[in-house]
Amino acid sequence: MSDLYDGLTRSARSLPESGIVTVFNYGRTRDGLIPLWAGEGDSPTDPLISDAATRALQDGQTFYTYQRGIPPLREALAAYFANLYGRPFSMEQFNLTCGGMQAIQMAVQLVIGDGDEVVVPAPAWPNFEGAILSRGGHVRFVPMALGERGWALDLDRLFDACGPKTRALFINSPSNPSGWTASAGELRAILDFARDRGLWIIADEIYGRFYYGDGDVAPSFQTIREDDDRILFVQTFSKNWAMTGWRMGWLQAPPSLGQIIENHIQYNTSGVPTFLQAGGVAALTDGAAIAQAQIEKAADGRQIVCDALQPYNRIRFARPDGAFYLLFGIEGETDSLQSALKLVDEANIGLAPGSAFGPGGEGHFRICYLRSADQLRTAMARLTDWLDRQI
Ligand code: PMP
Repeated sequence: MSDLYDGLTRSARSLPESGIVTVFNYGRTRDGLIPLWAGEGDSPTDPLISDAATRALQDGQTFYTYQRGIPPLREALAAYFANLYGRPFSMEQFNLTCGGMQAIQMAVQLVIGDGDEVVVPAPAWPNFEGAILSRGGHVRFVPMALGERGWALDLDRLFDACGPKTRALFINSPSNPSGWTASAGELRAILDFARDRGLWIIADEIYGRFYYGDGDVAPSFQTIREDDDRILFVQTFSKNWAMTGWRMGWLQAPPSLGQIIENHIQYNTSGVPTFLQAGGVAALTDGAAIAQAQIEKAADGRQIVCDALQPYNRIRFARPDGAFYLLFGIEGETDSLQSALKLVDEANIGLAPGSAFGPGGEGHFRICYLRSADQLRTAMARLTDWLDRQI
């Protein structure tokens, strides 16, 4: 075994186990467990979307396809974004990928080489670091703080963290796991800094429509970018349309990079299955009510979990501004992974341990609240009973 291990590349050996998956694997077969550990809801994909994919499959759309995605889907993406952000988009910006995760992986492949550094605000979804390490890159985390007004990013610390080896800033807003959402002013300052220093921004805005502030969508680099800005947007069908298992997302990049991206898709996956893309077209063109229902479910879930935990003095959290997670701290908690495993055994609920999310995460737990009200109420009762038993 050690001989095999020694034969691997340094970057292959450097990949850590995801702490979220550790708890997931421990508890996945428990009877009656309420799983709040992963970033997905409890509704299957709506038939409006799955029927379109089934029809395409039955029609024989089973051949090799366009590397960057079928034109009707890329056109539908341009129309969808034009409507969301009130400015024109072109299909040349859109490149289909196998999930948002592969969009992250490709963004990193495009701009990060051996020894390059990426600055990442934390707590952060562990897969950002995983993708960067897998390319031989390094992560420099910038810890955020949970204050009276929620999670906050100190921009001076962010900019100070950028050194000579820094190639990119990874900005995930709204954030998984904290729900932190950058203001328009913060995004503008980050873009000005990146332009000035020639840095790339990898903008993961997949939760942009799960936003609890003013307006329908969180502040975004989309409204302030120019066509030649060094911004790569990570996006996915997973969350808005309940399609996590489809593994379908996209990378939005400056149109002039189209051929380079096509080459990368060719050598990574050679494209997304054609019949799945037919489902994507249906989601974008006729799935507005489906996305709206997901967004409303998340807003209700946020209320339920926050109201349930509010009375507990030992619990520290701020109502999240975006996404569909609550990252809460428990006073005196020092080993969130062990406690998450205990919560599986003793409360039959699955939470993600804060330690999985890098600096600032330990001592916290992440709940995904995109679930039916009944399940969430039961889960919160189990959690608060468990907390009462700890005293
Ligand atoms: N970015 C963030 C911030 C996420 O939370 C996730 C999924 N949890 C992804 C990207 C990846 O999305 P997908 O499931 O489509 O690969």
